[in-house]
Amino acid sequence: MPELDIQNLHVSIEGNAIIRGLNLSVRRGEVHAIMGPNGTGKSTLAYAIMGHPNYEITQGDILLDGKSVLELAPDERSRAGLFLAFQYPVSIPGVTVANFLRTALNAKRRHADPPQEEISVLEFRKLLKAKMDLIEMEYAFGGRYLNEGFSGGEKKRTEVLQLAALEPSFAILDETDSGLDIDAIRIVSEGVNALKGPKMGVVVITHYQRILNYLQPDFVHVMFDGRIVESGGDKLALQLEEHGYDWVREKYGQTDAA
Ligand code: ADP
Ligand code: MG
Repeated sequence: MPELDIQNLHVSIEGNAIIRGLNLSVRRGEVHAIMGPNGTGKSTLAYAIMGHPNYEITQGDILLDGKSVLELAPDERSRAGLFLAFQYPVSIPGVTVANFLRTALNAKRRHADPPQEEISVLEFRKLLKAKMDLIEMEYAFGGRYLNEGFSGGEKKRTEVLQLAALEPSFAILDETDSGLDIDAIRIVSEGVNALKGPKMGVVVITHYQRILNYLQPDFVHVMFDGRIVESGGDKLALQLEEHGYDWVREKYGQTDAA
């Protein structure tokens, strides 16, 4: 049974249909890459999965372990095991990365079934150190104020650290909005490679074909015009690396433009 199952999803923003019949199934342990030209609705998909209120789901469903998440608020989706990189405020002056993570972790523990005790300061420090080692992050970074003055790469690194500490069932990692940032792509890919495991399914979203030099996804999907139009493995990855998206536009571009 697919564990994160997106069925015939249609999403509108301000009355404009952006996602138009998208299907995607992800199991724990799998890494999926969703790639496609700019403007095809990749970020819209990510926001819709997390329940952003501006993204109206007009048709279809999103199931987590067989149960629809559509009625859940974003924080409830997060506690149900979904992780979206940009679900957190952009910057919180006065709150360190470490404090932020401890608060997030404790919120998760409080809402666990059955509820778990708060993590002790000592235990948290050990956990943070272990996670930072795993993704080769300097321990001192935990003392910085969250996202304050962070470079694009540092923001991505912090996201990967959140992922490592919170251990969600499914993570959706969308590219930075700051456009082409090879550093960010590399950081996310290396993080995902390090954290990959049987308990977590990951979806990495980008328009940047060279991600495939860094990330070895189990599945590659091409998104175009609000749908996934091609899915495959190495062969599709190679095709994208060699030929970009031109063939995708040629093959799918003329049909039913919105
Ligand atoms: P991608 O991430 O693939 O580059 P997006 O999901 O950001 O694509 O955008 C898909 C389409 O939705 C684009 O045509 C974009 O202009 C439109 N869009 C995105 N956000 C909004 C919004 N807030 N209001 C109206 N249209 C939007
Ligand atoms: Mg985008």
